[in-house]
Amino acid sequence: MRLRNIPGAEAALREYPTFVDNPLSYKGSWKERFGNDNPIHVEIGCGKGRFINTLAQRHPEINFIAVELKAEVVLRALQRTEYKPIPNLAFVQFDASKLTELFADHEIARIYLNFSDPWPKTRHAKRRLTHPSFLKSYRQVLAEDGEIHMKTDNEKLFEFSLNQFAAERFQMRNITFDLHQSKLAEENVMTEYEERFSSRGQRIYRVEASCII
Ligand code: SAM
Repeated sequence: MRLRNIPGAEAALREYPTFVDNPLSYKGSWKERFGNDNPIHVEIGCGKGRFINTLAQRHPEINFIAVELKAEVVLRALQRTEYKPIPNLAFVQFDASKLTELFADHEIARIYLNFSDPWPKTRHAKRRLTHPSFLKSYRQVLAEDGEIHMKTDNEKLFEFSLNQFAAERFQMRNITFDLHQSKLAEENVMTEYEERFSSRGQRIYRVEASCII
């Protein structure tokens, strides 16, 4: 995500009611943060937040947590919320490689991975968000019937991810190699990257991977 460092971004985040400043303190008690028992869906690498903001408005019966590595990117996503408290949405600045510090075992119902960085070089494969080390941590924090929904424009990352899901014994369904021409297009919520890539005519790949063996 090409955003220049915004001076004071970390301090500015705390001005927003949907930003969670001390996320580790909620491990195991995110439901209390939201004040209800609704299922929790997490987007990892939310970017500027269009996807999760839209879903949170459409689905008040679900709690959403946006996890994003970079402070300046979280700030851009929060600016979209215009300081309004959104009861079923929380933003966290956090590195997903430490996800098991943020969530207790089986605390969440679904993970979204949208247009994750492909890290094409083999020596960087461990940074891919569908590397086995990430998939193992996802399985730990997901409910027993939890799911990962992934979409990408990157064919090689998609192929790599399908292989890793299979190797880690996730059950895959609703696989499409051209989301926007598929029956899933109608209910699809576009991300910023998706809009950019699809407007250039690039195909979008998508898969759902379930923890159920
Ligand atoms: N999902 C958005 C979209 O589709 O428009 C943004 C896609 S952008 C290519 C990938 C995002 O993932 C970046 O904002 C990046 O900072 C974030 N990211 C990369 N690695 C991450 C990690 N380990 N933990 C949390 N966020 C991460």
